[in-house]
Amino acid sequence: MDFNYSEEAEQLRREFRAWLEANLPKARVPNDFGNEPMSEDRTGWDFHLAWHKKMHAGGWVGISWPKEYGGRGATLEQQVVYNEELVRANAPGIVNGIGTMLVGPTLIHWGTEDQKKRHIPKILSAEEIWCQGYSEPNAGSDVASLQTRAVEQGDDFIVNGQKVWTSGAHHADMCILLVRTDPEAPKHKGISYILVDMHSPGITVRPLVQITGDRGFNEVFFEDVRVPKKNLVGAKNQGWQVAVTTLMFERTGISSGRDMMSVVDDLADLAQRLRRNGRSAWNDTAVRQKIAGFACEAHALRYTNLRQLTRRLKGLPPGPEGSAGKLITSELNLRIVKFAMELLGPYAQLDYQAPFAFDRGKWLYKMLAARALTIAGGTSEIQHNIIGERVLGLPKG
Ligand SMILES: Cc1cc2nc3c(=O)[nH]c(=O)nc-3n(C[C@H](O)[C@H](O)[C@H](O)COP(=O)(O)OP(=O)(O)OC[C@H]3O[C@@H](n4cnc5c(N)ncnc54)[C@H](O)[C@@H]3O)c2cc1C
Repeated sequence: MDFNYSEEAEQLRREFRAWLEANLPKARVPNDFGNEPMSEDRTGWDFHLAWHKKMHAGGWVGISWPKEYGGRGATLEQQVVYNEELVRANAPGIVNGIGTMLVGPTLIHWGTEDQKKRHIPKILSAEEIWCQGYSEPNAGSDVASLQTRAVEQGDDFIVNGQKVWTSGAHHADMCILLVRTDPEAPKHKGISYILVDMHSPGITVRPLVQITGDRGFNEVFFEDVRVPKKNLVGAKNQGWQVAVTTLMFERTGISSGRDMMSVVDDLADLAQRLRRNGRSAWNDTAVRQKIAGFACEAHALRYTNLRQLTRRLKGLPPGPEGSAGKLITSELNLRIVKFAMELLGPYAQLDYQAPFAFDRGKWLYKMLAARALTIAGGTSEIQHNIIGERVLGLPKG
């Protein structure tokens, strides 16, 4: 395996690094640690929206998309380098993550020409913010059990039902919605994938407050909502295939953008600055050993991700490494922030508004947000099942 990146990838790195150095915002909003742009507080949202628009104007949103759809047609290697530079620069997040990471790539693959023309430019520019309506109160891990119904009436579908945990629905203009169009068919065969205008009459969005205090996600209710049939993606009752394409983009997206070494470096920096028993916590060999253990895991994860990259460069489809990457990234992150809590002792409880908070309360926020990463995009148990069945060939449970 060749661990060096190609010259074209390094060229993009130089270009993007220079752009970031010239354009990164000088001042930040107070609690931007998790790159969580979704809280009800408009300051955070407006800050991330302005950043999105700047990135878009520079041509740095959706770089992997084909040039004809407004992307740069970046290679896989260039995408990896791009993500590395975002992490290195500690850049803020963009606002239309669901649009750019999930909806755009899915529409490029499955959408009609009209759907691509209508939505793709607005996804990149964040003129259209998107949300994802998959989960329901009784259909999360087993999302194919969903009950939201769509019935045909003339040129429209009439939609009734409820979704939950819908991230960013309170900001969204559009939603990728999974609906049941044939209740008699086996559960995977009666689902359709439709694009819903969130400003349609009959839609109610109710916020759910997270343990971090953010209002990132919502319950969404649909009462006789009219959706034009031209908003169907793929064939009627065959939406499951389209939904799985979106899920694949979601899982690889969650793990590939995160280099866990930067989180380990942050932890090491914290240990060096923290004083325990009259000296720096870093002087304690047990602390250093623990952090060295995390560093080994972060490096192993990086090489697993590179192995996946090699597969993709050889033209093979993404393998179940996407599940391994998602599982290891989110669980390692949880253990690292738990250890930071131990190091901080009583200071761990101070949030970003408290005068004596360490690092502006970043670690407490990260601790509270960490569990959600082990759930979103498919829980750790579900990723274990996929790895057990598809990688290790264990019998289905
Ligand atoms: C931060 C965040 C953002 C999210 N954003 C969105 C969004 O924008 N749109 C959207 O549609 N959804 C979203 N979700 C929902 C997410 O996809 C679901 O929470 C997730 O799929 C789990 O479903 P559930 O919560 O219904 O839990 P359940 O499926 O009810 O699971 C409950 C527990 O049982 C375990 N379990 C379930 N089935 C099995 C099994 N077969 N084997 C072993 N264990 C099992 C699970 O691991 C879990 O521990 C988000 C979730 C989070 C945390």
